[in-house]
Amino acid sequence: MSNNTPQLTNGEIFTTMREMEHEQLVFCNDKETGLKAIVAIHNTTLGPALGGTRFWNYQNEDEAIIDVLRLSRGMTYKAAISGLNLGGGKAVIIGDSKALTNREPLFRRYGKFVNGLGGRYITAEDVGTSTGDMEYIGMETESVAGKPEQLGGGGDPSPVTAYGVYLGMRAAAKYANGTDSLSGKRVLVQGVGHVGQHLVKHLVQEGATVMIADISEERTSAVAKEFGVEVVSTASIFDTQMDIYAPCALGATINDETIGKLTCNIIAGAANNQLKEEEKHGRALIERGIVYAPDYLINAGGLINCYVELEGYNRERALQKTEIIYQRALEIFAVAASNNITTQAAANRVAEERIRAVANINARL
Ligand code: NAD
Repeated sequence: MSNNTPQLTNGEIFTTMREMEHEQLVFCNDKETGLKAIVAIHNTTLGPALGGTRFWNYQNEDEAIIDVLRLSRGMTYKAAISGLNLGGGKAVIIGDSKALTNREPLFRRYGKFVNGLGGRYITAEDVGTSTGDMEYIGMETESVAGKPEQLGGGGDPSPVTAYGVYLGMRAAAKYANGTDSLSGKRVLVQGVGHVGQHLVKHLVQEGATVMIADISEERTSAVAKEFGVEVVSTASIFDTQMDIYAPCALGATINDETIGKLTCNIIAGAANNQLKEEEKHGRALIERGIVYAPDYLINAGGLINCYVELEGYNRERALQKTEIIYQRALEIFAVAASNNITTQAAANRVAEERIRAVANINARL
């Protein structure tokens, strides 16, 4: 798996699907509600393909197709590495989510389309969709997670995601420092939104020296006030002395401009696609002696939360299942070191091996 932006090869959908190894791409059109949705099912070897529905104003259809293909493939790897019996899928709805005021008709129609896939795809919330939208979808199909807590859903997955990131960070500390204690470590959390704020709580409880940065002054003052942590300006993040860098805002923050400035020996955060160029920047981190905890492994708590919801939601169980991240991270660091590959490449290898092993069992049954 690579983070490099894929293109539709020669503008051909089937060629691209073959190269990216997708099983199915489903186009849903409804004149009445204006619904234009695309569901991508990447791989169902381990189970039904689970992934959120992103509601986004794409510039054109190619952009939407590429995004849904890329995101669904990422879900296959995330589910596989987290030990879940789920495949990878994702959906996109093309349009302006904020402009849609009457959401019920469109989301119920979309729910009927999802239901028509007979359980091969299970949806959840993503950028531009909410637990309320999942409630509408849930009126039409069982194939939905991320419903509100009062409806038996998992509610906001961010605290579970943050717990997984915290455990991934502890595992990275164990590997890099010989002890997983974060006490006294200077940790910079970039982005104190849903996940970042819960991560700060865990770190403060453990006695780490936490610094926070966010483009939203409202967020930094709220979190600084609650936890008594130091605020760093976003412009000076990479000039700050730190032991651990935790990107919890946006992707591609590890790049040619930032790597040379990093003073930390660990990177562990929630943001997706942290390495601008997976192989190049993964290698550059190795050369600088920085341990990188693979993003899609340590931010898998949200997906684990959805999985537990399918079994009958229980927050304790979601947190307990998230604990796999610690051991899995240690395993990946060891695979990376013994094969002289990046930790991201090692994560991909471990995920692919699990899928292959289960496919072999299925073939023999
Ligand atoms: P969020 O929108 O609640 O928080 C993001 C925060 O980052 C906001 O406070 C925002 O102001 C800040 N921010 C944006 N750009 C910034 C910048 N340039 N510098 C500093 N701060 C900036 O999002 P979230 O749910 O907390 O998710 C954080 C990251 O983790 C995202 O990349 C998301 O894709 C990823 N993630 C989240 C979950 C989850 O359960 N919420 C699961 C997996 C991955």
